[in-house]
Amino acid sequence: MLSNSPLLQVENVSKTFRVQGKKLHAIENVSFTLEAEKTLGIVGESGSGKSTLGRMVLRLLESDKGKIIFDGMDLSKIKKKHLRELRQQMQIIFQDPKASLNPRMTVYDAIEDAMVIHKIGTKASRRARVLELLERVGLPDEVQYAYPHELSGGQLQRVGIARALSLNPKMIICDEPVSALDVSIQVQVIQLLKDLQKEFNLTYIFISHNLAVVEYLSDEIAVLYLGEVVEQAPAHELFKKPTHPYTQVLLSSILKIPESPEKKQKMTSIQGEIPSPLNPPNGCTFHPRCPFATEICVSVKPEQRKVSEGHFAVCHLVE
Ligand code: ADP
Ligand code: MG
Repeated sequence: MLSNSPLLQVENVSKTFRVQGKKLHAIENVSFTLEAEKTLGIVGESGSGKSTLGRMVLRLLESDKGKIIFDGMDLSKIKKKHLRELRQQMQIIFQDPKASLNPRMTVYDAIEDAMVIHKIGTKASRRARVLELLERVGLPDEVQYAYPHELSGGQLQRVGIARALSLNPKMIICDEPVSALDVSIQVQVIQLLKDLQKEFNLTYIFISHNLAVVEYLSDEIAVLYLGEVVEQAPAHELFKKPTHPYTQVLLSSILKIPESPEKKQKMTSIQGEIPSPLNPPNGCTFHPRCPFATEICVSVKPEQRKVSEGHFAVCHLVE
């Protein structure tokens, strides 16, 4: 890889699903680049397409169009046998670690599993690695004998993180990794992810519906609305100068982590529901919920407008 090329390049990717005989636009023309060892935060309400985008980057889903280049490899051209190699380099951490762990496997087996599948190391070296990972994610030794149902949500997520780390990946997609956790545990897990990033030179895509959660980890933030990036900027710039009305609404309703369940509800219910991606509004898709919408917003689809260097918003109101 050339040192000055980004680790990940996503160019104009789209994904539609067929639902009830209609096209559902889950992701529409999304582009971004991500430098190695940096974090891109992706924020948006439930249904905005965050998981779909993450799964396309992992190639668990194929994009309908556009290009995804990871570490110099064009993912759409990658052969089945190289997918295995790709899986080693890119891992995912899910919102619900319990659902992603086999209930009949001990923690030890769950963490060793990927190394066995990829035929990495000897039994002894894998054992040393599992124990090292357990320690690194802050779990006591004895946890190796436990089954998923014996662990708390926070412990399970630490196991999920250890599993993701086991193959020494370059990049980890964190898909709402703290959203299901207790308030007090969220901060610990986010701090752990931050420490691990430094220690293992990891690149993250960090997905959340909560801008406050994303803020702490992200270098760059993309705001997703109905499958489209409506604003993107370096994290500090986005917080200093939120420009798209949707970002402003998200920002005004955030609370500092830890979040409480009541507040979370409040955030997702601002100004009515997110419209159905089966039948998106004309013009700017945010116009029915936008306090500043004018005539042009109702009829004409806005284009990207530059706010400042590296900062754009897709809104007619940007001068
Ligand atoms: P998010 O992760 O932001 O909540 P998703 O990526 O899960 O959003 O979903 C985006 C949109 O795509 C939603 O409207 C969802 O219902 C739809 N969707 C996701 N996966 C599928 C699928 N396999 N089949 C049909 N529709 C899907
Ligand atoms: Mg999701």
